[in-house]
Amino acid sequence: MTNADEPILTDAERDEIRAKLDDVAQRAEAAAKAAGRGYGGGNPEAAAEDVKVLLAVKTQPVQKIRTAIEHGYRLIGENRQQELTAKAEGLVDLNPVAHLIGPLQRNKVNHTLAVESCTCIESIDNMRLAQRIDNRLELLERDSLDIFIQVNTSREDSKFGVAPEEAEQLIEEVRGLERLRIRGLMTIGLPGSTVDEIRPSYADLRELSQRLRDSGVLPTDAVELSMGMSADFELAIEEGATIVRVGSSVFGARD
Ligand SMILES: *Cc1c(COP(=O)(O)O)cnc(C)c1O
Repeated sequence: MTNADEPILTDAERDEIRAKLDDVAQRAEAAAKAAGRGYGGGNPEAAAEDVKVLLAVKTQPVQKIRTAIEHGYRLIGENRQQELTAKAEGLVDLNPVAHLIGPLQRNKVNHTLAVESCTCIESIDNMRLAQRIDNRLELLERDSLDIFIQVNTSREDSKFGVAPEEAEQLIEEVRGLERLRIRGLMTIGLPGSTVDEIRPSYADLRELSQRLRDSGVLPTDAVELSMGMSADFELAIEEGATIVRVGSSVFGARD
């Protein structure tokens, strides 16, 4: 939040954020190259197929996010609707491209500015939510909004994400809505799992995306795969990620 009480960062703190970003960039670029893919860094205008780095900014003060954006990372992701709006306002001069990466409650869609403040909602996992957002866009006279379908490929009980076997039906229904543009699929890895446990969930998302594009369920240009976090983004890139969402590796552990 923009808050007069928010401490101004020291030069050393800013340097640390920049150094960590450079480290993430170096590793992500190397993984992209090794996988024979392009690298778009923090540039939201990079090609969909290229690997891009999205900053997961939940709980981070605006000053830290500002430092990172000024270092070339305009693609930011926020989990909470209210924070997304506050951060978008506090950073408006830097023209960030904000993705909502956390759950959006259906009954809040009409009472939050999140739909207005963001460029993309990555966490669409049910039709009733998608319908509400489409209605909201109509009211706002906004023609389109980019979305991802969030799929639960981690084979564990999770409240969020559509089950892989139900993704096809959801995508077909969402494509019937006029204003939502599906850009790809998103998944969240299991917290605390080992690399061996996590790899299949990323591979599954890539295979699902390919299969649904081949069969025409997904639009052919819906190639984005948002997967991978600080602990495993190189692995996610190996498995086809086009957007990796990193937080703690840049900003340090969250409180
Ligand atoms: C917090 C968060 C991330 C980033 O996690 P780190 O481990 O801090 O990199 C990525 N995606 C989502 C959905 C998150 O909530």
